[in-house]
Amino acid sequence: MLWVKKINSSLTLKLTLPIMGVGLLLLITLVTVYNYQANKTLISQFQVITKNVSDSLVIATETDAKPANLFRVVGSLAARNNILRLVVIEQFGNIIAADNHHQNIGLSAKKGLNPIDYKFFSQLIKHTNGDKQYLIHNDIFYNLTPVHMINPSVNRLRKYYVFIAHNESEALNQASSDLIKLVLLFGCGILVMLFTLYLVQLRVLLKPLSNINSTINQPDQIILPSDKKGFGDDELGILATNYNKLVKAKLLRDSELTKAKRYIEGITEASPMLLAYVDAQRHYQFVNNRYIDWFQQPTKNYIGRHMADIFGKSLYQEIAPYIDKVLSGKPVLFEKELLIDNQPTKHLKASYLPDINEQEIVQGFFICIEDITEAKNYEIQLAEFANNLEFKQIALEDEKRVAEQALKIKSEFLASMSHEIRTPMNGVLGMLTLLMDTELTADQIHKTSLAKSSAESLLTLINDILDFSKIESGKMDFEDIDFDLSNMLGTLTETFGKQAQDKGVELILDTTQIEHTTVKADPSRIRQVLTNLVSNVIKFTQSGVISITASLYEDFDDSLNLLCEVQDTGIGIQQDKLNKIFESFTQVDASTTRKYGGTGLGLAIAKRLCQQMGGDLHAKSEAGKGSSFKFTVKLLPCETEIPSPLHLNLKESNIIIVDHNKASRQVLSSQLIRLGAHTQEASLGSEALFLLETTTFSEQENIIFIDMQLPKMNGLELATQIRKNTNFDRFKLIAMVPLATPHNRDFYESCGFQAYTFKPLTDSSLRDVLSFVSSPSIEDHTSQQTKNELTSDHPSEDATNINWPTSTRILLVEDIQINQLIVQGLLAALDLSCDIATNGLDALKILNDDDQAYDIIFMDCQMPEMDGYEATEAIRQGKAGEAAKSTPIIAMTANAMKGDEEKCLASGMDDYISKPIEPETLKGKLVEWLINKG
Ligand code: ADP
Repeated sequence: MLWVKKINSSLTLKLTLPIMGVGLLLLITLVTVYNYQANKTLISQFQVITKNVSDSLVIATETDAKPANLFRVVGSLAARNNILRLVVIEQFGNIIAADNHHQNIGLSAKKGLNPIDYKFFSQLIKHTNGDKQYLIHNDIFYNLTPVHMINPSVNRLRKYYVFIAHNESEALNQASSDLIKLVLLFGCGILVMLFTLYLVQLRVLLKPLSNINSTINQPDQIILPSDKKGFGDDELGILATNYNKLVKAKLLRDSELTKAKRYIEGITEASPMLLAYVDAQRHYQFVNNRYIDWFQQPTKNYIGRHMADIFGKSLYQEIAPYIDKVLSGKPVLFEKELLIDNQPTKHLKASYLPDINEQEIVQGFFICIEDITEAKNYEIQLAEFANNLEFKQIALEDEKRVAEQALKIKSEFLASMSHEIRTPMNGVLGMLTLLMDTELTADQIHKTSLAKSSAESLLTLINDILDFSKIESGKMDFEDIDFDLSNMLGTLTETFGKQAQDKGVELILDTTQIEHTTVKADPSRIRQVLTNLVSNVIKFTQSGVISITASLYEDFDDSLNLLCEVQDTGIGIQQDKLNKIFESFTQVDASTTRKYGGTGLGLAIAKRLCQQMGGDLHAKSEAGKGSSFKFTVKLLPCETEIPSPLHLNLKESNIIIVDHNKASRQVLSSQLIRLGAHTQEASLGSEALFLLETTTFSEQENIIFIDMQLPKMNGLELATQIRKNTNFDRFKLIAMVPLATPHNRDFYESCGFQAYTFKPLTDSSLRDVLSFVSSPSIEDHTSQQTKNELTSDHPSEDATNINWPTSTRILLVEDIQINQLIVQGLLAALDLSCDIATNGLDALKILNDDDQAYDIIFMDCQMPEMDGYEATEAIRQGKAGEAAKSTPIIAMTANAMKGDEEKCLASGMDDYISKPIEPETLKGKLVEWLINKG
């Protein structure tokens, strides 16, 4: 029905109808209540009238019981109360006693009343004892009230009925008209209310709703508020706000989706792979361009098409088993050869991956195809290459073998050259040493010493060449032993002290930057580098200062680095030549050799040695001003702690250093400050005296170091001046003397000194002299002095001082006569002699024949018939008798290459001396094996 449709489609009607229904319900209730109330009022009014009338009749008969009075009262009561019929009926016989219709008096009720009245009278008479004493019919109220009145006939009280019919139509009409007015008023009220409601709905509901509606009809539009206040916080406001949020979220998601789609499209297009998606019905749902291009199918429209349409029947049948497998939920990987339109064969590697949804149903599958044609072709080529390579490998191995052979030959050549050169050099040098020990004229001494120095130079050159060759061929061996770095540097500096002083150059060693002096490395190689640098700087410096500065720093990997700088104020090197000096056999200019000697190999060797020890060597120089050589090498922290030298505490000591050389002063000052002293410096004697006179010194220990070679007032003069002043008695004086001092301890003591020490100062010489002056005892001083003398230029022990064990027996096994003579000569110089065996066999024979054991055997290695190694093994096996089995055997060989010493020791020898034999080395070994270990 139309109106039902209307209601369904109209929100206003839907909202208004309940209100209208409620209004109607209210109206009905109102009318009902009103009617009920009106009736009740009428009935109660009627009952009041009835009562009044009955009471009036009773009172009237009591006053005057005459019938006329009753008739009159009935008439007037009926008229007054608008009563249609007022009848008084005697109970006995139902006779009308009085009636406003007089003609009926005396008649029975049945006759005197009209039928309707009588009908109601009859009905009412049955209820005279009940509650309901009235009846209503056609707007007429009927009432029957029983009363007791005086019967005038008998003048006694008798029971009567008062029957009243009262017309209520007027009152009812009035009530009806009132009701109509009320209904109309109520109806108008409802209408006004509905209209107002509509207006309100229109404003707060319908308009915003239509606004929302028109907005949401357009896709992804934001609802704009109708006024500036924005959306209210009512349901529509919340609805609009939430809708806007939804739209924004959707827009964001859309943009992300678009981006993601773009990325995926980009990736799939950029991918060198052929990518596609096929649904469960085998229809393409996605393909990238490469896929389309690669298969070169006539149609570009893949989407929605069956795979068989694209590939053709035969190719489709070939791949169908793979498709079946992937659609059964299993991934598939396969390779395929394809022949497309007379093109060269293509190779594909395909991977099918099933697309399984949450319900475990296969929706389709992803296809990823790689074109491996190139790789396949390479594989084929590679197989061909491999074949060829096998041949080449064989050839290469041959070449390698040849190269190894060459290297071996080179090493062997090096070893034999080393041996062959050292052997005659041993002869030359040994003989010259022996010659110098004989009585010679001054001219002979001069010539012999020249020959010896030339031979030594030649040996240095040979050693350099051998070293260089060893480095080049990787044969240079490096040790890793614990040693005291400061001591090593001190000893080395002392060794060069004399040379430097002879040239009038100040040599300074600065080790203040070395905290831990015990380290692990190859001390002899570091010494070799330093020796080269220091001998160079001494060679190329005529005056000024040469300083050796060493410091240690830790690396990231916890290893230690030694940084050493050797600086001079010598001739310097031109910038353009600076890099060349590290090349082998290179000197700055040809005149260098003429003037200074040298081979041009030293720096090349030093640099390579540094590099092989994990560091490097660099030079800085300015022609005419001097040079600086800096090298680094890697060291390891020491494993076994070498006991640190006596720890001196100079806290609170005041020490004055008087030295004209600023650098010397500063280094000594830093060394002393490190030990805790307060230092002051003076460059001249006069300055020192001024300092002494003007400064207040504490009562603590006061020491003055005085350099003997001060200009103007020399050290001795200064000491004399100081000792003249008794105020300075508490100052102990230490003389810093040159190595070649002509004076002895007594002399310096007599000049007022408490001690003296040689220059250059080293850590240990400084400690020695300080510990002496701190706890002086003349013996200590002497020993310190002796020690210094020993480290400078005096032989450590005179041969005559050594007490060899009585009847020491030495066997020399040596085939070359000149070498036999040399060893004999050197031993003779030590008050020793030896027996000689000319080869290993001879040695075994001598040892076997002799009852008395030898104390030591010197064994050459390369000999005819039986070499030294074989002979040693035989001796150790007891082939030379029990006694000889444990005799110390010392190799004495010109084999000085890497591994030679190890080879000797491995054969059973106990020690090793390389040729040419140094007298000192020989003596050291004899002391060690005959005295220390004997
Ligand atoms: P050698 O000193 O035996 O000639 P080196 O390799 O030690 O060989 O030195 C190469 C050259 O570098 C030297 O000949 C010299 O010209 C130059 N040279 C080395 N040290 C110094 C230095 N301290 N001052 C000036 N020139 C130097």
